[in-house]
Amino acid sequence: MEVIETVQGMQQRVDALRSAGHMIALVPTMGFLHEGHLELMRAGKRNTDILIISIFVNPTQFGPGEDLDQYPRDTEGDLQKARDVGVDIVFIPSAGEMYQENCQTTVQVEKLPQHLCGLSRPGHFDGVATVVAKLFNITKPHIAIFGQKDYQQLAVISRMVMDLNMDVQILGVPTVREPDGLAMSSRNNYLSPEERKSAICLKKSIDLAEQLFQGGEKEAKNIIDRVRSLVMSYPFTEIDYIALCDPVTLDNVDLLKEENLLALAVRVGKTKLIDNCLLHTGTVS
Ligand code: AMP
Repeated sequence: MEVIETVQGMQQRVDALRSAGHMIALVPTMGFLHEGHLELMRAGKRNTDILIISIFVNPTQFGPGEDLDQYPRDTEGDLQKARDVGVDIVFIPSAGEMYQENCQTTVQVEKLPQHLCGLSRPGHFDGVATVVAKLFNITKPHIAIFGQKDYQQLAVISRMVMDLNMDVQILGVPTVREPDGLAMSSRNNYLSPEERKSAICLKKSIDLAEQLFQGGEKEAKNIIDRVRSLVMSYPFTEIDYIALCDPVTLDNVDLLKEENLLALAVRVGKTKLIDNCLLHTGTVS
């Protein structure tokens, strides 16, 4: 496995691989790798013959007072996991390498960030779109793989790729969960044992919403009220949002349609956790 720290080094390596006819997959991450990240990497390996991952805690997607400084890091452990899963190249730049002095260009997707997590994290999705666009220019992948756990992020990136005619295929991978249903996340590491027990309220909310929807409930408000009561019955929880929305535009819906997105963000102690599911008529996802 190669480890590359510079933009130029990465671009030269990938140019040689492309000229030799290789197909390249990219999995962008912020490190502290868990089984969810590894599942994205396995999807990459199934679809191409060269797998690149990036490990970069991107400062421009963190707002003031967010957890940039505390974000968990474990480079040695990450490199071992990447090696075990068969990653070919790890791109691991410093912040100075990614953002040269005086850089002043950003990518902004206009409407999708005005929903869900974007409402309490102004500028977050500009930071995400910009760093992902840069990573695409640096690693030149044929396919880039993202988790459906961060549904809004996947929607923003898919929109950016379409709007800017980027020559890369975006693949979404279903959320990988702990045995009790909690979506895996590097931030789960922040939870105390007591908070960890309450964190299950997100998956329980999804199960409840699915059950109500499959039982014929079509009023978004009724489902949201029931989910809110469920979340609030767990200690240490504070709701950021519970939304039922159109899975493409992310606009809220009042009456559920054939396909809907349930998205929720709940603070458990100081840790903000997110989860989502698609509610389809006839099928449980
Ligand atoms: P992060 O390191 O948190 O920025 O995540 C890197 C990628 O892994 C993103 O595309 C995430 O959506 C994805 N990811 C994170 N957690 C999970 C999970 N539990 N299941 C599937 N994908 C995930």
